Amino acid sequence: MGFCLVNNVAVAARHMQSEQGVERIAIVDFDVHHGNGTQDAFLGDDSVLYASLHQSGIYPGTGRVGEGGSTTVNVPLQAGSGDEEWIDAFARHVEPAVVRFEPELVLVSAGFDAHEDEDLYLVDIRVTDAGFRELAKRCAGLAPRIGVVLEGGYNLGTLSRLVSAALEGFGQESATAG
Ligand SMILES: [Zn+2]
Repeated sequence: MGFCLVNNVAVAARHMQSEQGVERIAIVDFDVHHGNGTQDAFLGDDSVLYASLHQSGIYPGTGRVGEGGSTTVNVPLQAGSGDEEWIDAFARHVEPAVVRFEPELVLVSAGFDAHEDEDLYLVDIRVTDAGFRELAKRCAGLAPRIGVVLEGGYNLGTLSRLVSAALEGFGQESATAG
C-alpha cells in the first residue's frame, strides 16, 4: 500500500524455506502498524505463523482480533499504551502462540515507530528504549534461530539508539520462554 516496495520479511521467510530447508517459521511484528501485506502473504499457509502487535485504528486499518487464519495472531492496542501494555500483550498473546507453534526460526519485523518520541501522524504508543530491549529479548527466547528486519521508525534522532537497544535484547535469550 505504499510504505514498502518489497516485503523483506516475507521474502526472507520464503527464502529460508526454499533454500535453507527451514519448515516452520514464526514472524513476530512489533511495528506500530499492522503488517497487512505479511498477513496476506501467508494466509492459508500453516507453515508460517504471523503475530503482530500494533496500534488499533490507524493505517492500514487492518489487524482486528480474529482476522486472518489459524496461524494469524493479531493484537491491536489502544492509543496511549506504553511498555506495560505492550509487554503484557506480548506475554499473554504472542509468546504462547509462538511457543505452541514450535518454529525453527523466528523472523522479527522490528519497527520502532511505537516509541514514545515517534511523531508520525496519528501514532500514539509510548514504548521506551527499555521496552524495545525487553521485546527483543523475549523474541530471542522464542526459537533456536532468529533473524531481524528493520521496519518502521521515522524519528532519525532516536532510531539508531533504539536499534542498539534492541540488538542488546536480541543477544540475550529470555529465561521465560523457549
Ligand atoms: Zn510502522
